[in-house]
Amino acid sequence: MDATTLYAELDRRSADVAEQVTAWRRHLHQHPELSNRERATAALVAEHLRALGLDEVRTGIAGHGVVGVLRGGRPGERVVALRADTDALPVADLCGTGFASSAVDHDYPGGPFPVSHACGHDGHTAMLLGAATVLAGVRGQLPGTVLFVFQPAEEGPPVTETGGARQMLAEGALADPAPTMVFGLHLTPHPKGHVGYRVGNQYAASCLVKITVTGRQVHGSTPWQGVDPMPPAAAIVTGIGQLYRQLDAYHPVTVTIGHLEDIGRFNIIGEHVTLWGTVRCAVETDMPDVQQRLTRLAEHTAEAHGCTATVEHLQDVPAVHNRREWLDAALPTLRRVVGEDRVLETGATLGYDDVSEFVNAHGGLYLMLGAQDTELDPAGNPVPTPGGRGLVPNHNPHFYLDDDTLPTGVRLHAHLTVDHLTGRLLPAEPR
Ligand SMILES: [Zn+2]
Ligand SMILES: [Zn+2]
Repeated sequence: MDATTLYAELDRRSADVAEQVTAWRRHLHQHPELSNRERATAALVAEHLRALGLDEVRTGIAGHGVVGVLRGGRPGERVVALRADTDALPVADLCGTGFASSAVDHDYPGGPFPVSHACGHDGHTAMLLGAATVLAGVRGQLPGTVLFVFQPAEEGPPVTETGGARQMLAEGALADPAPTMVFGLHLTPHPKGHVGYRVGNQYAASCLVKITVTGRQVHGSTPWQGVDPMPPAAAIVTGIGQLYRQLDAYHPVTVTIGHLEDIGRFNIIGEHVTLWGTVRCAVETDMPDVQQRLTRLAEHTAEAHGCTATVEHLQDVPAVHNRREWLDAALPTLRRVVGEDRVLETGATLGYDDVSEFVNAHGGLYLMLGAQDTELDPAGNPVPTPGGRGLVPNHNPHFYLDDDTLPTGVRLHAHLTVDHLTGRLLPAEPR
């Protein structure tokens, strides 16, 4: 089969599976599971991969990770790993569809939490199941091997647990066979069907920060008889706003405190206040400096109030690095799949994705795929299309995906795989 015929076959098969991909996505959306609890999602994935007759379906990797192995019918040494993340978030679902989630995880640490796919991982999982279907259908034409990697806990496991991409690597998920190219994508509020890419760091370096401020518990009416940890906690949050002025303004950095825990009561000054947040650096070498400044700020602010603070930096995730030679090699494929005018270079983002553990180690690509009712303003930024559902960021309870975009994602996976296995998509320099 020549290349043009094979591409047409991929497109035909992607169209054939589109309805099922939407059905999977809606089912997963209605049955979301938090990081490290993706039991039913993994079972659905494994069942479908087995039904496709893959050569191997490995389960139970790093908790609920699944890897399907498809060996092509023609000789070839290359190996493509396609990765989807499978976990959901502790966010209420206000997406306003008939398949909105009403799930609640009663047992999760810190919970109970409402659970929803507010980051689009339902779409990622459904698209990769679709790609597995398409590629299994043309396996006789494939010179090489495809790994379908369904990764749990991308959003970070509970802090007392391990999980995610690093744990999958530690358990040998990509050891045999080792990929010669990894591909992953993220659905975003960019215009439907647009592919965004960035040379260099596509997504930022990240860590979770936990700051524990300790005072001395006392009756709420007599703060002078104890030590109140709440004012320094508040001052630390405010002080973070000044950290930016100590850092190079041309290097994007974010420090966000997203959650605060306090054991007090309206009439009790508690012993501890714990701040939970995230640090993001577009330039990963900035991370140690930001962490050191944040630690200094917290410790000394606490001391000024007669308290102590401990600062822990946990769950570090490296930046996702797209190498130019990989992008140059892939651009013809991307343009063929979505159209020349829909492939756009984007700015740095401070999101993270631990697909970096895979891409940085083995080479490959990480892209963004737009899936909302938006269009680009003259500066190239997405803005809402008049009359559409609007621009809703990931992690917002109203986050939504346009299902019509999913077949484009299936085609991207399939075409990139075929082009790498057949030697049309190779980085110019030795890796
Ligand atoms: Zn997310
Ligand atoms: Zn995500």
